[in-house]
Amino acid sequence: MVTGREGSPDSSSSAAASVTDGRRAELSGRLTDVRDRIHRACSAAGRNIDDVTLVVVTKTWPVADLRLLRALGVQDFGENRLQELQEKSVELADLDIRWHFVGQVQSNKAAKVARYADMVHSVDSDRVALKLDAGAHRFEREIDCLVQVSLDSEGAGGGRGGVRLDGIDSVANALAGGRWVRLRGVMGVAPLGEDPSPAYARLREISRRLVSSHPSASCVSAGMSDDFEAALAAGATHVRVGSAVLGARPPLG
Ligand SMILES: *Cc1c(COP(=O)(O)O)cnc(C)c1O
Repeated sequence: MVTGREGSPDSSSSAAASVTDGRRAELSGRLTDVRDRIHRACSAAGRNIDDVTLVVVTKTWPVADLRLLRALGVQDFGENRLQELQEKSVELADLDIRWHFVGQVQSNKAAKVARYADMVHSVDSDRVALKLDAGAHRFEREIDCLVQVSLDSEGAGGGRGGVRLDGIDSVANALAGGRWVRLRGVMGVAPLGEDPSPAYARLREISRRLVSSHPSASCVSAGMSDDFEAALAAGATHVRVGSAVLGARPPLG
């Protein structure tokens, strides 16, 4: 019996429910594909899947998507703007989520980043390291931090951010000396328009050197939707995946 359905009070909510179902199916399918890719890349590299964290980068996507993803087992979410991180973490405070900040940290906003992020991947100066430590102290939370290192080849234009080779020790020491920040490793973004493998190999070397002086700094955050297999082959422990899970990002408003 379907009589009397038309115009019934719940017709719009059931339409909304079917949109949600469609989105859930879409996210579930893409998430399964990404997890399969991670599995295959780990097997190929002889690595244990348990040593890899999938961080789903949800910048520009609504909290409804994060709720669906949380229900599909995702616990690690990445954002690159403070305001969006703050809004989402407040709205989703009922969920058990680990927040990753992957965007550039402005030093005047570092305290707030420390308030909302559990892991900051993008520490790129001594000053930011000190401000994060002060902010984490103020909000009485300990946070994990990675030194973002530049993987741009010498003389390349259009850099993708990060500390140059000769500045890494100084930022690492600034973090290691903090009481509320924990130095956990390094992060890198592969240069645009180049084979990412040599860049990720450089990152692995940088990581090895760092671990020799800071044994607990063994995390390597590397790899995005198009290249995380190359990053996993080079030892990445955290892959940051956006569009392969969520689809092409809507243009920024
Ligand atoms: C957006 C972003 C990602 C995810 O990029 P996709 O290509 O969508 O997977 C990863 N890392 C950083 C730093 C980002 O800003």
